[in-house]
Amino acid sequence: MEESERLVNSVITGGQWKLENIPYPLPQSVIYDINQINIPHIPNPKDRPSWALTANGSFTTSSMYHHIKGKSNHKVTSNKEFNWIWKLQCPNKIKFFLWLSNHRRLPTSHHLHMIGINISPNCHICGDVEIDTHIFVECPKSLKLWEKLGLVDQLKPILDKRETDWLSTIRKIKNFTIHHNIDWNYAFPYYVWSIWLNRNYNFHNGKKDEILTSLPLSRALKFFYLGLKDNVGNKTRNNLKWVVPENGFKLNTDGSFNYLTRKGGAGGVLRDTKGSWITGFSAKTNVMNALHAKILALLMGLRMADRHKLTPLQIETDSSDTLVLIYEGNDSFSNIIIECRALLQRLANPQITLRRREQNQVANRLAKEAVKLKENIDFVEWLAPPMFIMKNIDADKEGVTFIRHDMPPSSPISLTLVDNVESIPVFVIWSGQPLLCSARII
Ligand SMILES: [Zn+2]
Repeated sequence: MEESERLVNSVITGGQWKLENIPYPLPQSVIYDINQINIPHIPNPKDRPSWALTANGSFTTSSMYHHIKGKSNHKVTSNKEFNWIWKLQCPNKIKFFLWLSNHRRLPTSHHLHMIGINISPNCHICGDVEIDTHIFVECPKSLKLWEKLGLVDQLKPILDKRETDWLSTIRKIKNFTIHHNIDWNYAFPYYVWSIWLNRNYNFHNGKKDEILTSLPLSRALKFFYLGLKDNVGNKTRNNLKWVVPENGFKLNTDGSFNYLTRKGGAGGVLRDTKGSWITGFSAKTNVMNALHAKILALLMGLRMADRHKLTPLQIETDSSDTLVLIYEGNDSFSNIIIECRALLQRLANPQITLRRREQNQVANRLAKEAVKLKENIDFVEWLAPPMFIMKNIDADKEGVTFIRHDMPPSSPISLTLVDNVESIPVFVIWSGQPLLCSARII
């Protein structure tokens, strides 16, 4: 066989990478990268073009950024005018997105067209040329959002083409209160970020979904209360415990990653309404970070629940990032996410609830023990609870509580309810007492 004609499935046997089928040696770093790629158990029907700069072939702005940065030997100099971006209180990925916007480097259709990529320069929603002012202000989808917020008048300079700096215009909107706890200056990045996510979702899935108006606020509030510790104010004591499922079964999963040894583990447990052990697992994982381990753990847990047909099912994780990945998607882990979503659908759309670490100790321990498995063992299904976990199992069964000093109960914690993702009507509940300005999405 000509090597250039070799298909990927010629190096996959029984759901595992068999790189020894390639007749020449690969560098260790390449073997490491390939082993990190999840092979879906649910077959993905379509082949599609692949972006060379990411492991899974999906385009990401950050991969392009690192590529360009790595190629040009000079450091990207920070322009004083844009320093405000780095001072914003929002996740780094949003800052980077704003930085790209400010440098007119967002991969809009028009931009990609101009740099020679074979793609239509037009907006697939309305047909106008898709430059960034179009995406963020002029496109009917965005205008609808600004209308709902009552901000169209303030964006007139952009709409009348008197102003082209859409980001500054949005940032400098005056006399507008989005929420009693946070002001526009804090919240606006989440709005433009949500427009961008929605645009990407529609673009890549050939859809024309609306922008969910309350989602940006919910993201902003979540970061405000969970991400910015300084703003939490007086903390209160919360008693936390694992609770048996009301009916059916409960799946807890967790992943761990040691940044020094680069070793990762995944663990999960399924228990019934009495808190009794049904089954569980520990698995070694080839992952690049803790989040990768956690999402993989969820996938393995879902596969296990599916294999044993354990429904109705409730699912718990202590990783809000995992939830965000499942709902919003992510280029780096797309093949894991796609399979998780398919399994969730097959398992009758169980609810996934975010818990604190104290309420997820069994899964956490199973993940940590995975790296201690014998060298030739990568995966263990525990049909009975292993000795090292007995104490935690008993504690959960007896409802032992753990005290955690946490945010005050009055804090309006709102986690994302997402209903536009592949029509999986799952939603997220915060497990502590502090609940929630309902973020029912419009
Ligand atoms: Zn448009």
